[in-house]
Amino acid sequence: MARVTVFTLGGTISARGGDAARMTGAEVLAGLGVVPDAEVELRDFRRLPSSSLSFEDLAALAHEVRETVAAGSGVVVVQGTDTIEETAFLLDLLCVTTEPIVVTGAMRRPDLPGADGPANLAAALAVAAGPGCRDLGVLVVLADEIHAARLVRKTHTTSVTTFASPGAGPLGTVVEGEPRILLRPTTTSAIHPLRFDPAVRVALITLTVGDRGELLEAVDSRFDGLVVAAFGAGHVPTRLVEPLADLAARIPVVLASRTGAGATLTRTYRGPGSEYDLLHRGLVPAGPLDPAKARLLLHALLSSGAKGPAGYDRPGIAAAFAHLDGTGLA
Ligand code: ASP
Repeated sequence: MARVTVFTLGGTISARGGDAARMTGAEVLAGLGVVPDAEVELRDFRRLPSSSLSFEDLAALAHEVRETVAAGSGVVVVQGTDTIEETAFLLDLLCVTTEPIVVTGAMRRPDLPGADGPANLAAALAVAAGPGCRDLGVLVVLADEIHAARLVRKTHTTSVTTFASPGAGPLGTVVEGEPRILLRPTTTSAIHPLRFDPAVRVALITLTVGDRGELLEAVDSRFDGLVVAAFGAGHVPTRLVEPLADLAARIPVVLASRTGAGATLTRTYRGPGSEYDLLHRGLVPAGPLDPAKARLLLHALLSSGAKGPAGYDRPGIAAAFAHLDGTGLA
C-alpha cells in the first residue's frame, strides 16, 4: 500500500465556525469520512489562515516535505486556498522529486452546507498515492481537477471551482476516486532543487494607470530583486523606463504581466516603455509565469547564489525563467 504523509497547515478546511481557531490535523483527517487507500501519516504542521503563512513557515515546510519524499512517501499539504498557488509553486522549486506532492484545501467551511474539504482531501490522497501521478512536479487538486503548480491560479473569491490553469488547463481529473492524467509537463519547474532564504527581499509592484513611480522609488536599496506586474504583454509608462533601467543595473528586475494569463512579449512593440525597450535595458522576461510566481522564482534564485559581490547573475536568472517559457530553449 502506498504511503502518504499529510501536512495540515490550517485554512478554510479547518475553519469550523469561521473564528480564528483552526481544527487540529487529526480533526481535519477525521472529516474525510472514507478509509483512504493508502497508509496515512499525519503532521499537524501549522494552524493558520494561509494569508498568515510566513517565509519561515514555508522554508520549514519545504525542508520536511523534501525529507518525507526522500524517504519514499507521497505528500499531501492541506492549507488555505488563498495562497495555494504560491505555496505549491514554491514547493515545486524546492522539492524536485518523483514522488507526488499534492496541495489541497477547501472553499467552504466544514460546518457549511456543501463543504468541499472532504472530497478535495480524498481526491488529493488518491493522487498522492497514485503511481501514475509520479514525475509530474507539485500538483494542486481541488474540485476533482489536477493542476500543475506552475500554472494554477485562484480565479474566483468563493466558487468551489476557483482553481484554473489559464492557457493550459488541468493535467488531469479524478474520476470515481481514481486519478486520470491526460497531459504531462515537458520539464520540471527547476532543473535542480533551489534553496530558499527567508531573509531575501523581492518586491512585487503592480502598475496602474497614471503611475508616477513613487513605489519604484521606494524600492531603492531595500530589496534584492523586483518583479514588475506591467500592463498587457509587458508595457510600462515612458516615465518609468529610466528608473526601471537604473534598478536593473543593480538588482534583477523581472517583467511580468498583470493580465492574469498569457506570456510577456519580447519584440512586438519597440518604442519607449515597450517590452523590447525594457528587455534591452536589462529587465528579464517572466514569460508565462504570473507575477506572484515570478517573485518566488526570483527569490529562490537569489537564495541559491544568483547574487554575488560583483552583482547578480542576469544570464542565470534569465535562463531559469526561459526554462519555464515553453520554447524549450533553456
Ligand atoms: N481562505 C482562507 C485561507 O486561505 C481562509 C482562512 O482564513 O482560513 O486560509
